[in-house]
Amino acid sequence: MRKILLILSSFTFYLNADLKVSLDQELKTLMPKVIEWRHDIHEHPELGNREFRTSNKVKTHLESLGIKVESGIAYTGIVGLIEGGKPGPTIALRADMDALPVEEKTGLPFASKVRTTYLGNDVGVMHACGHDAHVAILMGVAEFLAKNKSELKGNVMLIFQPAEEGPPEDEGGGAKMMLEEGIFERYDPEVIFGLHVTNIPNGVLSVKSGPAMAAASAYRITIEGQQTHGSTPWSGIDPIMATAQLIESLNTVVSRRINIINNPAVLSVGMVKAGTRNNIIPEESMIMGTIRTFDPVLRKEIYDEIEQIAEGVAKGTGTKVKVEFDVGGFYPVTVNNPELVEKMSGSLKAASPGRFYESNIPVTGAEDFSYFSQEIPGLYFWLGVNKPGEGESTNFGERTDVPGNHSPYFIVDDSALDKGVKALTYLVLDYPEKY
Ligand SMILES: [Zn+2]
Ligand SMILES: [Zn+2]
Repeated sequence: MRKILLILSSFTFYLNADLKVSLDQELKTLMPKVIEWRHDIHEHPELGNREFRTSNKVKTHLESLGIKVESGIAYTGIVGLIEGGKPGPTIALRADMDALPVEEKTGLPFASKVRTTYLGNDVGVMHACGHDAHVAILMGVAEFLAKNKSELKGNVMLIFQPAEEGPPEDEGGGAKMMLEEGIFERYDPEVIFGLHVTNIPNGVLSVKSGPAMAAASAYRITIEGQQTHGSTPWSGIDPIMATAQLIESLNTVVSRRINIINNPAVLSVGMVKAGTRNNIIPEESMIMGTIRTFDPVLRKEIYDEIEQIAEGVAKGTGTKVKVEFDVGGFYPVTVNNPELVEKMSGSLKAASPGRFYESNIPVTGAEDFSYFSQEIPGLYFWLGVNKPGEGESTNFGERTDVPGNHSPYFIVDDSALDKGVKALTYLVLDYPEKY
């Protein structure tokens, strides 16, 4: 019996090896297409829950490959199912599709010129987080797997997700909404994989076992004063002075008020809005920012500290201060299943020989992939997209000083994308052998 098993497993090994060899062949014709899709999506970026064009492009492509497609999930989300010719688990792969309200400054020939209105402001729209690369990579993976589906063990569930950066307030969206709309019940995946491009050396694949990315919560503080003439401040209540005090005190939460020795935390102010004219003390002012944590108890402490500060400033200035947390939703900590990381790291190593890095440092960025990996074991890894040679002297998994995600200068180097296609494909091919 053991002998038969041995023969069987070495047989599947050869089958996989065959598929990996044919992937290497196929990449010569596949990668130019992936790069062309990426450029097209980059030039036509769309904000969260508005990814109509991108979603249509994905749908058309998957249907052309004979893949079963469900569209309109959580507004613009797509799920495709590749049914393998052999029995096995359903493996989910996820790509996010949304862009950011950032004005592109890369000067690339396919740079975005798109503008829109966001939170009342006229803004540029840019794939500043590189989700254009994620979509194109997964379209490429889908093409290879669909063409070879008779050899596949089990099914591959392709998730093209809207609004990873957060949906417009009051709309809901993203991974959470796709789950609420029942995609895991309908397709029953056993495991999920995803990747994110970032400013680490070209073609490096990096993973962190366990808690890998922070929980994120947006907060909003509204300060209500009493409007008056700028020349007679004593006849009103100045919300701007109160706002200045608030910002100063908010910056003492992490540095002075909580113990972060074992638990990193970040509190940032990202928006301040008040006033219309030099000589009017306005009625109202508003602050928004983000809180990043890895520990729910510490997060609660930070919320309490902010409440206390707000109460104190209100008392001291005579303003009314309202604090809201988890505005537009909350992102849990992204956890990489340790057993999965241990068993599947070999696939990542093979996908980019000599350029795999297992990190032990979590990052304070956040990901709503966390909602998926709360439900089933998940593995989320980084793909380095620096220009070849850039940042090579750094530790492979560490961010380099090349402009990174959310920068208007963030550039994804096309030459790294094949490592992404390979990594996701290898994970799909190897997983049924390891579990
Ligand atoms: Zn982002
Ligand atoms: Zn992102």
